[in-house]
Amino acid sequence: MSEPMKYILDEKDIPTHWYNIVADLPKPPAAVRHPATGEPCTADDLRPLFPDALIAQEMSAERQIEIPGEVRDILRLWRPAPLYRARRLERALDTPAHIYYKYEGVSPAGSHKPNTAVPQAFYNKAAGVRRLSTETGAGQWGSSLAMACNFFGLECKVFMVKVSYHHKPYRRALMETYGASVTASPSEETAAGRSILARDPECSGSLGIAISEAVEVAAQRDDTKYALGSVLNHVLLHQTVIGLECFKQMEMAGDEPDVIIGCAGGGSNFAGISFPYIGRKLRGGRGPRIVAVEPDACPTLTRGRYAYDYGDTAKLTPLVKMHTLGSSFVPPGFHAGGLRYHGMAPLVSHVLDLGLIEAVSAPQLEVFEAGVRFARAEGIVPAPEASHAVAVALREALRCKEEGRPRVILFNLSGHGHFDMQAYTDYFAGKLKNYAYPEQEIAMALAGLPSIVD
Ligand SMILES: *Cc1c(COP(=O)(O)O)cnc(C)c1O
Repeated sequence: MSEPMKYILDEKDIPTHWYNIVADLPKPPAAVRHPATGEPCTADDLRPLFPDALIAQEMSAERQIEIPGEVRDILRLWRPAPLYRARRLERALDTPAHIYYKYEGVSPAGSHKPNTAVPQAFYNKAAGVRRLSTETGAGQWGSSLAMACNFFGLECKVFMVKVSYHHKPYRRALMETYGASVTASPSEETAAGRSILARDPECSGSLGIAISEAVEVAAQRDDTKYALGSVLNHVLLHQTVIGLECFKQMEMAGDEPDVIIGCAGGGSNFAGISFPYIGRKLRGGRGPRIVAVEPDACPTLTRGRYAYDYGDTAKLTPLVKMHTLGSSFVPPGFHAGGLRYHGMAPLVSHVLDLGLIEAVSAPQLEVFEAGVRFARAEGIVPAPEASHAVAVALREALRCKEEGRPRVILFNLSGHGHFDMQAYTDYFAGKLKNYAYPEQEIAMALAGLPSIVD
């Protein structure tokens, strides 16, 4: 009983401020540009979509931004999130590595996404907004926003990628339980949806298409604004509570991470755990290696281009400079819906470009094998997205074993897989395959990038 397995903080240890990495970067990130003119965006350009407080955070270079009391009061439902030492996994691998994981699956929706859904709903409510529209792929973001909207008495309209709408009925039921209205995308409700369906009535949808529909609805109605679950600066900002809590918990454990690992879809949970550590290094402190993990089938950071692109298929969103596979990219239907986005957060793209982080990709079968191994050692069944981080943590732990060198590994377990059991069933039935996106198709999608240089 002498060795602790988890490190638990008090409610009073929930961070009082979010950490904004922009304040510490050696070079500022590229400007966001208007989709029609290509000129740098002003706050006015973003006002149809977001409330002023979030626009200010989006453009802020202030290091610390205070978390409103009302937001902290809801975060208390699941925060601080536990940090575990994976002792049983270490023994199963027979590795000298110390493996730690921060577990974000303790939130009511089962992932890190409520960390930003709650402040986004709060600032919209405070600005007098009545309704939020959004998109969701696998349903993690939609259920998080549905929960947060319900807490603040906002209506929530979710465009859910059609293939998930049919394959993940329980995520849809969860959103409806929180009171949201869910529409399969592409839909007949928007011009963007109708134009896709006119060309391809069987279209099974993509995140890029669902974003177009949600943005269109928000831009048209005065009482409705738009909310995004990843990618944007303010979303990454809200997720920094993850890494800030880890500082204290790693101190309790008496260890310092040598490497920090996170899976990256749009980049928010990865930024959440790593940006506070990158900031400390930039301010002259100690610095671990930082590794972002993405699927072979959607290799944005490892095979995409760092260029200006749209965030959606209909080219309604502002242009942002990011690692992208092209906004026309429709990823294959692999089982980590949360990682199937054509772009990557501009701030994550920027820190990769500055050489502050590394990026690797992992094939689907290695990811599921790692997820099962983790579940059998630690008991928690990881979401397939989170299993990407697990897979690379296992690679690092096994390397420690080969080299006979102890190293401290910290990774973010971004969510549990209780709504993803069909994927596990398919894996056990031998139905999953590895799928690397063909070079030719990447080249084709990239050929359509807008020609903007900064
Ligand atoms: C949405 C999601 C992700 C990917 O999104 P990021 O913005 O890259 O964090 C990862 N893990 C889980 C469990 C998710 O729900």
